[in-house]
Amino acid sequence: SLTAGIVGLPNVGKSTLFNAITQAGAEAANYPFATIDPNVGIVEVPDNRLNKLTDLVQPKKTVPTTFEFTDIAGIVKGASKGEGLGNQFLSHIRQVDAICQVVRCFEDDNITHVSGRINPIDDIEVINLELILADLETVTKRMQRVEKLARQKDKAAVAEYDVLSKLKTGLEDEQPARATDFTEEQQKIVKGLHLLTSKPTLYVANVSEAEITDPDSNENVQKVKAYAAKENAQVIVVCAKIEEEIAELDQEEKELFLEDLGIAESGLDKLIKAAYSLLGLATYFTAGEQEVRAWTFRKGIKAPQAAGIIHTDFERGFIRAETVSYDDLIAAGTMNQAKENGRVRLEGKEYIVKDGDVIHFRFNV
Ligand code: GDP
Repeated sequence: SLTAGIVGLPNVGKSTLFNAITQAGAEAANYPFATIDPNVGIVEVPDNRLNKLTDLVQPKKTVPTTFEFTDIAGIVKGASKGEGLGNQFLSHIRQVDAICQVVRCFEDDNITHVSGRINPIDDIEVINLELILADLETVTKRMQRVEKLARQKDKAAVAEYDVLSKLKTGLEDEQPARATDFTEEQQKIVKGLHLLTSKPTLYVANVSEAEITDPDSNENVQKVKAYAAKENAQVIVVCAKIEEEIAELDQEEKELFLEDLGIAESGLDKLIKAAYSLLGLATYFTAGEQEVRAWTFRKGIKAPQAAGIIHTDFERGFIRAETVSYDDLIAAGTMNQAKENGRVRLEGKEYIVKDGDVIHFRFNV
C-alpha cells in the first residue's frame, strides 16, 4: 500500500505529530497479528459518508479504511553528500510515495531551533535543497550513461537525454522535478527515474496551542502558504501538541474538545485526508447488513481491479458491479428506493470506479 513520509528538520514537532498518529492509530484493533514497523503509523481515514451509510444500513459492523504514514528521521544539512545519517535519510525518502514536510511555525524560547531562529522558508529550503542535490546526482549519472547512445541517434536514448537535460536545468535552478513540465510520454521517463523531488508533497505548518483557532495570525504560516502556492502544494495547519492530546480521547470526547476550541476538524484528520488525496487515492464502499465498509483504491482503476482489493476471487470471477453513487443512495434513503429510482447501475469490466461509489460485486466462484 502507498505511504506518505513525514519529514522535517529536528525540533519542528515531527515526533510529536507522529506520536499523535500512532496514538490515534488503528493498528491495535485491526492488525492484531501483524508486525508493524515502528516507523509506520496506521490511521483510520475519517469519512463522514461512512457514518451516514451506517445510519442508513444499520449493519452489525462498520469498518473504515486506513492509511499509512512513515516517520522519516534524521534530515541534516549535507544529507545529499552522505553526511551524518544523510544517505539513510535519502533512501528512506526514496521508499515513500509522497512527502509531508513538517515546518516549525510556533515560537518557543525553550525549544532550540537548529539554526537558532524560526524561519520556515529557510527550513523548507534546507530540506528541498538536499533532495534537489540528490536528484541532480541521479540525473547527471544517468546522463553519462545514455549520452553515447543518444549521440548515435538511438531514439529512446535521445528522448531520455532530452528529459534528463530539462530536469538538470530545473534542478540546477533549485527547482524540484515536480515543477518542470513534461509531456505525457516524457512523464513516463521521469517516473522511471524515481526522483525524490518528483514525489507529491505537502507542507504541515506546526503552530502553537494559542494559534490553532486563528492560524493565519501567524506570520510564519502566511509565509509557508505563499511558498507552497508557488509550487501548487497544499498547506495543512496543525498544532502537534494538541493533536497528541486529542489522539488520547475517544470519539465523543474528541468532538467536545474540538467544539470547545471552535474548530470543525482536527489538524490530523485534515492531514490524513490531504495525504490520501495527494496520493491519488479515493474510497468506495460496500454496504451490507453484516458490514458497511470503506475501501481504498487508486483513482483510475476499473471495476474488476477494485473488486480484487476485497479478494482476488472477486477479481478473477468478476461478472458485474452493482453500483450506486453515495449521493444517489442517500437521496433515495434506502437501497430499494435507489433501485426503484433507477439509480443502481450494472457496471461491467470497463467501468472506472469513482470516489463514493457504493458497490455490490457479482462474481463467479
Ligand atoms: P522533532 O525533532 O521534529 O521530532 O520534534 P519534537 O516532536 O520532538 O518536538 C520538539 C519539541 O517541540 C518538543 O519539546 C515538543 O514538545 C515541542 N513541540 C512540538 N510541537 C509543538 C507545538 O505544537 N507547540 C509547542 N509549544 N511545542 C511543540
